[in-house]
Amino acid sequence: PPVELPIHDAVLGHAAEFGDRPALIDGTDGTTLTYEQVDRFHRRVAAGLADAGVRKGDVLALHSPNTIAFPTAFYAATRAGASVTTVHPLATPEEFAKQLGDSAARWIVTVSPLLQTARRAAEIAGGVEEIFVCDSAGGHRSLIDMLATTAPEPRLAFDPAEDIAALPYSSGTTGVPKGVMLTHRQIATNLAQLEPAVTLAPGERILAVLPFFHIYGLTALMNAPLRKGATVVVLPRFDLETFLAAIENHRITGLYVAPPIVLALAKHPAVTRYDLSSLRYVISAAAPLDAELARACSARLGLPPIGQAYGMTELSPGTHVVPVDRLHDAPAGTVGRLIAGTEMRIVSLDDPGKDLGTGEAGEILIRGPQVMKGYLGRPDATSAMIDTDGWLHTGDIGHVDEGGWLFVVDRVKELIKYKGFQVAPAELEALLLTHPGIADAAVIGSYNDDGNEVPHAFVVRRADAGDLGENEILLHVAERVAPYKRVRRVTFIDSVPRAVSGKILRRQLRERT
Ligand code: ATP
Ligand code: MG
Repeated sequence: PPVELPIHDAVLGHAAEFGDRPALIDGTDGTTLTYEQVDRFHRRVAAGLADAGVRKGDVLALHSPNTIAFPTAFYAATRAGASVTTVHPLATPEEFAKQLGDSAARWIVTVSPLLQTARRAAEIAGGVEEIFVCDSAGGHRSLIDMLATTAPEPRLAFDPAEDIAALPYSSGTTGVPKGVMLTHRQIATNLAQLEPAVTLAPGERILAVLPFFHIYGLTALMNAPLRKGATVVVLPRFDLETFLAAIENHRITGLYVAPPIVLALAKHPAVTRYDLSSLRYVISAAAPLDAELARACSARLGLPPIGQAYGMTELSPGTHVVPVDRLHDAPAGTVGRLIAGTEMRIVSLDDPGKDLGTGEAGEILIRGPQVMKGYLGRPDATSAMIDTDGWLHTGDIGHVDEGGWLFVVDRVKELIKYKGFQVAPAELEALLLTHPGIADAAVIGSYNDDGNEVPHAFVVRRADAGDLGENEILLHVAERVAPYKRVRRVTFIDSVPRAVSGKILRRQLRERT
């Protein structure tokens, strides 16, 4: 059943019980916030924000790398009635200004090292009433000072089914980033739906290196562990040695990561210099995870197979996960099983009304309480995504096996159309990576001289790849796939452009053709 609570109550409703257990630990200097402190601090800051003029329904932009203050700022803002739009801490002033303008944000919460960017963005966008800082900086009210406020705590009536808690922007992998309206009920319900699979409890220590500003980090690294009394060790950015040292020093029990971190754990020589024996599981999401790489990682760390989860910003964000207690019996490469209270269909790409059976690949459609309210200010984009029966068209292609495990093949938008056949770049990428001379690869459709779209591989050679050339690569693929799937062009590059989540930035490759 849907959870009818505002998100701050859904997450921190039990904080008082957890009392002086550590909620958040700064992974760089060890500063700790207990559950009692997070509970008290976010209520005080909510009072301070309300006193400063924040009103129910206002949009507040939270612009910060991962810090132990981030959750306090987030829940304070929602308790004061704001909808929080989280901003990439590396956004340029122009990018930030676009998000401010698009979301009509009235308030910014930033950190002093990012203050110049925030000021400039507010200037460009207009409409921002005030900039607050989490730490302290001359001329700006700070959240720390608000801890001493005598203003009363706001006691607002929420309508969890209607009020927007978060307004994250989608990653912009396939188009312009869009503001995704997620209600309190959608986020809180999705947390409850995912809970049986993640088995978090007091005593578990989670390492938060993926960004809280993205819905994956917000859910897996902030809302979920804080709701269950676990401890979150916070790192501001991914640096392999700092990350490994934090696992060792804080006896981290579980990791929620993206494929580039699995790659580092599987391959980097530094990994063997640290004691990672406290780890019990690793879950990867956000981008396709190569099955071979996953195997290499779990074998090296002596862990159960790496689990995956699947979701998207528009789904608050989760629909599938490999439950932690089923890591051993889940088939390799699956992104998980459908969570409770959610429906899925796999429909034909050629005939979208037609449902497909077990093992057949088609577009993944989802219906459930976690489907977003819509894209902010974009009714057309919303109705293109969610049909009149409430099914959200994910744009992802997948198939399900007899056991109900989902496999994601690729995105519909990335499919290459070769002479009327559909070719999935992800399949060719995985195949290219099996060549011992290839360190990394990405495939897109590009047009040859007669105007036909063909699979075009961008390949990063290993340092020891010798004279590995185009012909050998073409042959490696041709020997293993149906003729229509063959790679027809190869370009050698120094590195594959990727987002921190591991998503390949294919637009950047297209610009090079
Ligand atoms: P935009 O919608 O703006 O183009 P985006 O889709 O990359 O950006 P997100 O919501 O961050 O933005 O990402 C969701 C997408 O990530 C999914 O639609 C899917 O393609 C991909 N994804 C998520 N989890 C997995 C996974 N386990 N395996 C493969 N792909 C995944
Ligand atoms: Mg998307």
